[in-house]
Amino acid sequence: MRPFLSHPFDDDKLKEECGVFGVIGVTDAANFVALGMHALQHRGQEAGGIVAYDPETGFNNARRFGYVRDNFTKADVMATLPGSLAIGHVRYSTAGSKGATAIRDVQPFFGEFSMGGCAVAHNGNLTNATQLRKELIERGSIFQSSSDSECIIHLMARSIQKNIPERMKDALRAVEGAFSVIAMTRTKLIGVRDPLGVRPLVLGKVGDDGYALSSETCGLDIIGAEFVREIEPGEMVVISKGKVESSRPFGSAKSRFCIFEHVYFSRPDSILGGRSVYETRRQIGVELAKESPVEADLVCPVPDSGTPAAIGYSQQSGIPYAMGIIRNQYMGRTFIEPTEQIRNMGVRLKLNVNRALIRGKRVILVDDSVVRGTTSRKIKDMILDAGAAEVHFRIASPPTAWPCFYGVDTPEREKLLAATMSEDEMRDWIGVDSLKFISLDGLYRAAGEAKGRDKTCPQYCDACFSGEYPVAPSDQIAKGFAMKAAE
Ligand code: SF4
Repeated sequence: MRPFLSHPFDDDKLKEECGVFGVIGVTDAANFVALGMHALQHRGQEAGGIVAYDPETGFNNARRFGYVRDNFTKADVMATLPGSLAIGHVRYSTAGSKGATAIRDVQPFFGEFSMGGCAVAHNGNLTNATQLRKELIERGSIFQSSSDSECIIHLMARSIQKNIPERMKDALRAVEGAFSVIAMTRTKLIGVRDPLGVRPLVLGKVGDDGYALSSETCGLDIIGAEFVREIEPGEMVVISKGKVESSRPFGSAKSRFCIFEHVYFSRPDSILGGRSVYETRRQIGVELAKESPVEADLVCPVPDSGTPAAIGYSQQSGIPYAMGIIRNQYMGRTFIEPTEQIRNMGVRLKLNVNRALIRGKRVILVDDSVVRGTTSRKIKDMILDAGAAEVHFRIASPPTAWPCFYGVDTPEREKLLAATMSEDEMRDWIGVDSLKFISLDGLYRAAGEAKGRDKTCPQYCDACFSGEYPVAPSDQIAKGFAMKAAE
């Protein structure tokens, strides 16, 4: 039976679609990769896969649905993945109308070329994949999956370059959108980031001769790897025999890292762009308290992602911080395939109000974002049922009014609350005493940009807030998506 890994509470959050991890130069590399994937599990919970290379048995792979800890800790699975070079991928849990992933969609993908095999794991989303796929199929490519990432393997197959890193450069020059790619040949570990560096990728050192690539630094920490540096936007690294070779296959562009990684996607113990994610989130709370103060008795996070911003809000405002909502950490494992009746309990399956604390209090609730707003309404109901005197929402991101096309699952624009309502309308619809979002400038300040957002040349991707897409989503435009009109 496939474990039930998504529930109504999570359906009202944006979801990172993938995490990637690779290691070279260590004994039993797949074990290191499994640990790295476990640390990156927050980036994708539906499925995971590992490819390893061993000179005697060649390339081996294992792809499974479910959590890393339930699949890649088993001796019989890990015994099939020998070798000192391996890469892995975790994929997020699909929900609603998109349907479930098929095992053939689980990465890494593998291609056998005349110069040897290559496995590829991709975090991000290719915004011209529909068009590319159509062209590739018309020219004879036979796709095995429904994933945009498989285009990379087929584009590599069409390249006339003599080695795999050069073929990969050709392939990635043809794609548009966001990609942090980890790949491996029989002897090389390869890491590449798209020219804008939308999704993260970091390099670490393992022991004397080993290296690791990971979506986040928390993946390096778990295997005891030393953080070396971030792979830079537009950079390719090829690691072999204890050496790291760097090249710049793409034209230069100004970095547009995803600012939502700071707000929500990345783990708070990771370091992004030299900044602690936790500290940025705490600082968002500080900025929120300056921008949107309100008289109240308690500041409570919506756990877990609202916690650092709630701490910052409390520190700046002087209003006591308290755990007014408690999260059940074991929800995902407790109910396998829940009945409809249990599903309808919604947010109560995961969150419970600390009634003794809340009764009679004016409560500020700090959450990371509002997507559809359905969860915000339910949380408000729970807090009022517990006897709160007032409920004030403070949101650690600006209104999410536009979909993401760069590797984050977002509802269609019409389903985003902020796409159809003003802030006051959202406040009334959720039914709270006040609702305030951090401003875009405030978010940039919290992320270390003292002067706020550079309006002519923004320092980050913030398209889901601003509607200004750094790479035109050509597939979506072809399907009729209306970009924001120029101001
Ligand atoms: S649109 Fe939003 S979620 Fe997507 S990459 Fe840009 S900032 Fe990140």
